[in-house]
Amino acid sequence: MVRHYVFGPVASRRLGVSLGVDLVPPKTCSLDCVYCEAKATTLHTLERREYVPVDAVIRELDLVLSEKPELDFITFSGSGEPTLNSGIGRVVDFLKERYPQYPICLLTNGCTLGDPELRREIVRIDRVVPSLDASNREEFEVINRPVQGLDFDRFIADLTDFCRSAPQEIFLELFIVPGVNDSDASIARFREIISRLKVKMVQLNTLDRPGVVDWLRPSAPENTRRFIAALEPLVPVEAVGPFRYRSRVFGHAPELCTDAERRILDLVSRRPATRADLAVALGMEEEKIGILIDSLFKFGLVEIERQPRGIFYSATPSARR
Ligand code: SF4
Repeated sequence: MVRHYVFGPVASRRLGVSLGVDLVPPKTCSLDCVYCEAKATTLHTLERREYVPVDAVIRELDLVLSEKPELDFITFSGSGEPTLNSGIGRVVDFLKERYPQYPICLLTNGCTLGDPELRREIVRIDRVVPSLDASNREEFEVINRPVQGLDFDRFIADLTDFCRSAPQEIFLELFIVPGVNDSDASIARFREIISRLKVKMVQLNTLDRPGVVDWLRPSAPENTRRFIAALEPLVPVEAVGPFRYRSRVFGHAPELCTDAERRILDLVSRRPATRADLAVALGMEEEKIGILIDSLFKFGLVEIERQPRGIFYSATPSARR
């Protein structure tokens, strides 16, 4: 079957094993972020409509999910801003009614979260991951390059209201752009904004692959640590990208790990295992196990021992707590 709207499953550090759903054609978005992996925005809009046919998306999902794949999440993401598709609620309802065993995640730029209709449509989604890359209007213009009419103060007010009242678990993403949003004053403003939100974790990101503009540079580890030091007293923090970090909260908040990570940790807490052992035990490709175990290692949750039969992984004391 040639797929047009459903991709993966892919193993990701943030979401474990995730099946992607793309609800807009490339590249439809209300922002045109300088770091966007989907490249420059060609349809810059805030208008919500059925950009791709929802019936076709549902048919494709039904075909893929009827095979009962092992997934941690079904994730709305892809070639732009998924909430611009006015049919997202129908897709959510279909998934919750036909395949309730799969948690759903929404990656969103947050610009539509003030829309009461949209909030109703996504209320059954399990995890929402909005972005917050700017601490003021100037940074919003330089980093996110919003469509005309999208006001920064309105965006923050809507994000704050959503994060305080939404029933879903919320993981906030913040992309560090050195020289634009990383001054002491910016970090203090982020701290102030985030102190008003109810979020489970802040995920710090920085350039890992080429962005849309050539002046973009990754945040150095010592720079990312300034954000961690400022935000960690408020909320657990995770840094992804070239420098990895996760607040040592696993023992107190195991839900911060994905299901796939938890399944791996559960096995290697009982006895050391190789990637091949884990692949057999979990019925997962060895390559995906590799991505997940690499992430757990960098977060200090597994340790490595070389033995004659290969490299064995076991849980560290902090993962066992
Ligand atoms: S909001 Fe997401 S899809 Fe839109 S331009 Fe920014 S990074 Fe790309």
